[in-house]
Amino acid sequence: MKPKVIVFDLDDTICQTRWIFEKQMKTGAEYLANTLGEKNADGWLTEIETVNNKLFEIFKVNPKRWVKLVDQIAGEADQNIKERAIDIFNQIYFEPLPFVDGAEETLTKLTNNKIDIAIHTHANADWTWRKYEWLGLSRFFDKDKILISNEDNHKTAASWKRVFGELNCLPEEGMVVGDSPRSDINPALEIGVKECVLYQGGEIWSVHQMEVPKSVKVINDIRNILD
Ligand SMILES: [Mg+2]
Repeated sequence: MKPKVIVFDLDDTICQTRWIFEKQMKTGAEYLANTLGEKNADGWLTEIETVNNKLFEIFKVNPKRWVKLVDQIAGEADQNIKERAIDIFNQIYFEPLPFVDGAEETLTKLTNNKIDIAIHTHANADWTWRKYEWLGLSRFFDKDKILISNEDNHKTAASWKRVFGELNCLPEEGMVVGDSPRSDINPALEIGVKECVLYQGGEIWSVHQMEVPKSVKVINDIRNILD
């Protein structure tokens, strides 16, 4: 049966996002190794990744966690060095992001076939609207189809429920497509979405990893969502 609405996750489902975090964390590690020494860039990178994973559980996707991270790993350092490090991490939110391979083609096809589509993201709102511009998402989604949850929380069963309510679609009549078992698939299953598709074409951040039931369709190419 054709889903009434397909709700997509945005980051690493429609646009490639993980790489910019990795790039800027590596740049930050090199900067701290060059200015503060103490350990080499690999050592700094390990520390950044460890602290970032911990802070993610407290600050979720809110970009303010980078300020906290720099305070934790380089609290004693000169203020200018700390500010420069924060700038490097904040650059994450200003670099244009490309589509996931096949996503633009898939959205074009769904739009041409008049299938209702929407996005549910918990990323920072300003950043989300930048992605909307960079990717030309207005070709596929009116602005009211971009449903942004509070960046101070993960996507949860409650946020998925709200999204389906706003889209006037019962969860069991819709479909959810996302790359995160934790934020997309499992909470969507919890509210009764029967068709959940886990996209595993990219690398997933460890904090999103979780078991999903065997009933979940797993794809490695986003073009295969309706196959
Ligand atoms: Mg995602």
